[in-house]
Amino acid sequence: MAHSIDSWVRHGVEMRKPLLIHPNLSDAQRIIVIGGGLSGLTFALRCAEKFPERTIDLVESSPRLGGVIETWSEDEWRCDVSVNASRPHPAVWRLIHDLGLDDEWHVTNDYASNRWVHFNGQRVKVGPALAMKIGIFRTIRGVRNARKGGRPVSELIPNTSIADALTLGIVNDISINVDADTLFPGLTRFGHEPPVSRSKLRRLVNDSYPSKAPPRRSMASLDGGMEQLIDSIVARLEESPKVKIHLNSRMRNPEEAASNFQVPIHSVVWATPNFPDLGFKKERTKIRIFAWGELAKSSIAPIGYGMLIPTGGPVSGILHESDIHHGSRAPEGQRLFRIMVPENRWNGELNQIHAHMNDLHGQKNPTIFKEIAEREIPRYLPGHLQKLNDLQVPCTWIGWGASGPSITHVVDEVERIVERMADYRI
Ligand SMILES: Cc1cc2nc3c(=O)[nH]c(=O)nc-3n(C[C@H](O)[C@H](O)[C@H](O)COP(=O)(O)OP(=O)(O)OC[C@H]3O[C@@H](n4cnc5c(N)ncnc54)[C@H](O)[C@@H]3O)c2cc1C
Repeated sequence: MAHSIDSWVRHGVEMRKPLLIHPNLSDAQRIIVIGGGLSGLTFALRCAEKFPERTIDLVESSPRLGGVIETWSEDEWRCDVSVNASRPHPAVWRLIHDLGLDDEWHVTNDYASNRWVHFNGQRVKVGPALAMKIGIFRTIRGVRNARKGGRPVSELIPNTSIADALTLGIVNDISINVDADTLFPGLTRFGHEPPVSRSKLRRLVNDSYPSKAPPRRSMASLDGGMEQLIDSIVARLEESPKVKIHLNSRMRNPEEAASNFQVPIHSVVWATPNFPDLGFKKERTKIRIFAWGELAKSSIAPIGYGMLIPTGGPVSGILHESDIHHGSRAPEGQRLFRIMVPENRWNGELNQIHAHMNDLHGQKNPTIFKEIAEREIPRYLPGHLQKLNDLQVPCTWIGWGASGPSITHVVDEVERIVERMADYRI
């Protein structure tokens, strides 16, 4: 089905992806949402706004809402343990705006935009010099090849170190294991083509932001951390008389949810990263997150966004948290770095991470060094998006296992589903 220009302007490249919506969800008067992460919460919010007469039950297995999103803090240190900033997408900006969070939402600091890859033992800035290392002809060949569909990112970007750095930074997995269509559907030309040229579409999308459009390739974050987003959505849901939240309640599958709440299965919205019995069950990797502080006056790491480290030790990425954000993340005179450690690269000894950080940052004595979280990340194996395209789901499935790894994917998917329910032209 071709999509209208209005839909392309609202959702951009996300229109290339399939929606796993059950056709009868639109008729459901009582909707059961399973999973209280960003996707389940945003769905409940958007659904309650659009259909205030419908009853919504949101069921979460753990004692807290937010899923992987959480902001750790200790004294004046503050660090998001999962998403810390969003790349531009009007759906995320609409959510922030509708929640009244515009004043807390800022584009990340311009002076901290440099990114590096640790390449052949050196810090190499992401830019033309790094692109030269891949080679223009090899890149063109890689893109052509990836357009055949279902290919790994390692074929799209024919330089293993650079491709691995990128995919480790986005989905905690090496590039041979990651679906190019899921990460770069515009580049691989997955799905439908937009009805206007890319540059025209970009202009129209830019004009559709509820506030000033963010600069291209910028990021934006909440001053108090991303947990603010969760708190604001939850506060809205608590004001909605037709929304009920159930914590500490795990549903084994959509059938159990339908039976417990005595609704047809098409009234269930499954908002967890894995969908039982559809072959996505165990596809996850694990990552450990650490906070690392340095005295600003003795810190020699350049000011910037962060560095990706494809090989050579347990640390796969370092984000310069106190450089990036508009809001404060570290005590006066200190710098805060967030360290990402894939579980399969670490021997479990803190000394190993300490030694690797010493190599990378030239710092023996961090002012803070502690594990702040452990998270699981869905896998997006080659062919993932094609597999979703062909999937018959017994009920609607949303969230990052279905839509893609970023909050732009998750938040936009929810908007598209609620629009489809309201029978908008999609
Ligand atoms: C380390 C890390 C870094 C990230 N960085 C970025 C970034 O920089 N930019 C970006 O855009 N995104 C980033 N993300 C991704 C972003 O955080 C996710 O896209 C988003 O938060 C996913 O939300 P979700 O609701 O789909 O899933 P989840 O947050 O996983 O929520 C699912 C919820 O369902 C519950 N649940 C699971 N099973 C059941 C069950 N059977 N019954 C009831 N409840 C159940 C879980 O307890 C959980 O609360 C990052 C993620 C991680 C982990």
